[in-house]
Amino acid sequence: MLDSHVHLSQSVTSFDPHKIYFINSVDSSDWMILQDISSKHQNIIPFYGIHPWYIQKTGDSDLQKLEVLLNQNDAALVGEIGLDRIKAKKDPVQFSLDKQIYYFKEQLKLALKYRRGVSIHCVKAWEELFTVLKELHQLIGKDFKAILHYFNGSVQIMNRLIKQGFFISFFPNLNEQKNPKTFQAFQLCPLDKMFLESDRYIGESEKYIVAHYQNVSLLKKMNFADLKKRMLINGEIFTNRALAGKR
Ligand SMILES: [Zn+2]
Repeated sequence: MLDSHVHLSQSVTSFDPHKIYFINSVDSSDWMILQDISSKHQNIIPFYGIHPWYIQKTGDSDLQKLEVLLNQNDAALVGEIGLDRIKAKKDPVQFSLDKQIYYFKEQLKLALKYRRGVSIHCVKAWEELFTVLKELHQLIGKDFKAILHYFNGSVQIMNRLIKQGFFISFFPNLNEQKNPKTFQAFQLCPLDKMFLESDRYIGESEKYIVAHYQNVSLLKKMNFADLKKRMLINGEIFTNRALAGKR
């Protein structure tokens, strides 16, 4: 079973050696811990990046550190990076969209330079996201791969993303009444472009991701084992490597 978006907790306790975890960092203080556990556990897939909620203390030296990490480690992916209009509205000084766009773009450039998959957070900033992608189009090759994590947009936005090389990652408890837009996108999302995530801390994520797969297997009228297999294949396509822990 693959969980396409998990976070690090202060102390990483137990996790299932048979699951694949795409672990996203939020800032440079996560990177060393992530480097350590991913070097010891094949089922931990590390994503290094600075999340838009954590840019207040970020400087260009962090971008340099990120580049060193990517340069040293072929398995390192980029994430969680992105744009969040709600955060910018709450605190327009520390988290202005301009500042968010700067760090998002610089990190995306590094991912493109080293040809790594990238995990993206986007809240109510779709046009800004598409503008950045357009501005970087010369750097974006045919092999560009990204995950739009916690997708909560429309079918139309989903299709624009898929066209540009994105996989769409859906959160647990999809509910037709509570999130009709997301639910409709989920129903129309091709299985080979889909990921399922808990968006929890590793360790506490277990029950959420299992229930999520059970729910999706019912909604998609798909055998549980086949669903797990499909998500793992998507993970292998995304990471460009064979993933351990096939159960
Ligand atoms: Zn996250």
